Amino acid sequence: METALNSMSHDFDPCDEGAKLTVPDEVQDAIRTLIRWSGDNPEREGLTDTPARVARAWREYCAGYDEDPGHHLERTFSEVAGYDEVVLLRDIPFQSHCEHHLAPITGTASIAYLPRNRVVGISKLARVLHGFARRLQIQERLTSEVAQCIWTNLQPHGVAVVIEAHHGCMTGRGVRTPGVGMITSRLLGCFLDNPCSRKEVLALMGRG
Ligand SMILES: [Zn+2]
Repeated sequence: METALNSMSHDFDPCDEGAKLTVPDEVQDAIRTLIRWSGDNPEREGLTDTPARVARAWREYCAGYDEDPGHHLERTFSEVAGYDEVVLLRDIPFQSHCEHHLAPITGTASIAYLPRNRVVGISKLARVLHGFARRLQIQERLTSEVAQCIWTNLQPHGVAVVIEAHHGCMTGRGVRTPGVGMITSRLLGCFLDNPCSRKEVLALMGRG
């Protein structure tokens, strides 16, 4: 039993996911340099495999560069039985990284649109969000890229995106102010032009 447990604990290392990706020496060297610059010794035992792990993790954090988020909106459904009200996906959790410090941005997004004859599978809105979030970002651009992508691809009557997020670069450094959320919004079409529509969608998002 003890042997089985031992071998299991050796085989199962959650940090080793994606270990198949080869990391070039120059990338590992760059991370070693950063560790040294931070004040630690990259050659000590606990940090031996860290450069390769960090490199692979960053490919995952930034997997959005490998996709065009608009592709998720290509398949639409027109049989909506006359449904012509707001479609809302509320409080979708996401993670991104700020382009100024490479620090994590964690938050939630609410995405709504008012369809014009066509709808998409609801999970696709989350996929669009993640496609843009898995890049180096600022929250303002993330918000407007998600909105614009839905606007362009679905050509709905309106789009509303509201994002609330915490920034690692604010909580862990600089002003060191944990718990402060930043809210950004992007409204297009009827949600921008029509005060009643805007009021309705923001209320549905819990922000009225
Ligand atoms: Zn930052």
